[in-house]
Amino acid sequence: MIDLKDFPENTSQLIEWIKQYYQNITSYPVKSQVKPKEIYNQLPEKAPQDSESFEAIMADFEKIILPGITHWQHPNFHAYFPANTSFESILGEILTASLGIQGMIWETSPAATELEEKIMEWLRDSLGLPSQFQGVIQDSASSATLVAILTAREIKTNFESNENGVPPNLRVYCSSQVHSSVEKGVKIAGIGRKNLVKIAVNEKMQLKAADLEKAIQEDINNGFNPCCVVAAVGTTGTLAIDPIKEIAEICRKYKIWLHIDAAYAGSALILPEYRWMIEGIEKADSFVFNPHKWLFTNFDCSAYFIKNSKSLIKTFDILPEYLKTGSRGLVNDYRDWQVSLGRRFRALKLWFVIRSFGIKGLQQQLRNHIQLSKELANTVDQHPDFELIMPPFLNMFCFRWRPSGFPEVEELNSMNKDLMDNLNKSGEIYLTHTKVNGQLVLRFVIGQTYVKKEHLDNAWAMILKEAEKLKVKS
Ligand SMILES: *Cc1c(COP(=O)(O)O)cnc(C)c1O
Repeated sequence: MIDLKDFPENTSQLIEWIKQYYQNITSYPVKSQVKPKEIYNQLPEKAPQDSESFEAIMADFEKIILPGITHWQHPNFHAYFPANTSFESILGEILTASLGIQGMIWETSPAATELEEKIMEWLRDSLGLPSQFQGVIQDSASSATLVAILTAREIKTNFESNENGVPPNLRVYCSSQVHSSVEKGVKIAGIGRKNLVKIAVNEKMQLKAADLEKAIQEDINNGFNPCCVVAAVGTTGTLAIDPIKEIAEICRKYKIWLHIDAAYAGSALILPEYRWMIEGIEKADSFVFNPHKWLFTNFDCSAYFIKNSKSLIKTFDILPEYLKTGSRGLVNDYRDWQVSLGRRFRALKLWFVIRSFGIKGLQQQLRNHIQLSKELANTVDQHPDFELIMPPFLNMFCFRWRPSGFPEVEELNSMNKDLMDNLNKSGEIYLTHTKVNGQLVLRFVIGQTYVKKEHLDNAWAMILKEAEKLKVKS
């Protein structure tokens, strides 16, 4: 065991390791190249019975664990959406781990609750969310969306579902493009997947509001009880923005909870020029975005905002004898704002990030990513063998390889898949794909905290090189 006497030395070794890691991060393959079970099979069958040294553990971390790591902080991680971090966030997280608190209720660490309250107000105001919204940090957007669906369910059923079980006629609506977490939430909430109604999208992949209203009316005529709509601000595939204002008016009219999933794109609301994305937000009931994706705060940290926190608390509150306190009712006990009882002190890392960057610094970083994305998209667009399928929006664009003489969609799809696989195998860059109108396209997202133009120049050179190799082969 490590005692306090040895701890500082171990800590300095660890910090030195972190420094080297970030200095040399581009020397690691972005995407881990291991095969299934390769890591598992290197680990001892039985737990060690005797104490092992810090040095021995670190040595195995480097030898066994590191090869199985995909380097999300590598500047050429362009896959999925980023989950970026920053040195500020790392420092905050170290303090959180050191304090080791469990902030389930105000009394178990008043500062954890009150810092969270204040930071959520800062974020709310910095994003241009309505002032009556209150915030709470959840572990993930999936949890926040589940919490929204459960609250909507209780309101719609006069808090009877919590008592007697869920009636079979509740309905939830979203577009065909929304994140799979909505389906998961509907399943867990006992509403049932068949009661999740997926509404068609227009050519911009946005939910068609008129179709939504029609579906709601038909459902009401058929004895269903519409309870929640989940609208997307920035879908995972193509960053589509649903028409919040029109959807909000429909929700008002039929008294349906409106939850907005802005898990990724929400960070951009810190830039006033993107506030149009949430026009109509004052009529929404809840909103979620993930600082752990594009706001330099390491996973997990999901910011959930809700207009009427009383309904949320009424949905989740429990009060066993051992949790009764004198401060109840005077303060926020966040255990009643989420699924689990226990909770991490996540506000601390966010506090470090917001204070050290400043709102202006955060804005500058995001604008830089957006600018880099525009420039690279432009380069791709100008190349005769490539085409932009989705023009740059925020810090993402979609493109595909299309050398002349390959007109068939099927053939192009498999060529682009090969190109992506080869790039990912090279270890230099990590990309993922999506399908747009049957075309396999490569997504390119630029969101790593310390990414620079030179990294993107490298990435483009790699793409051209791999494409050239494939062309020669075929
Ligand atoms: C990433 C993402 C989610 C899921 O986020 P988690 O925090 O991993 O649960 C949900 N919705 C959208 C639009 C996303 O981009």
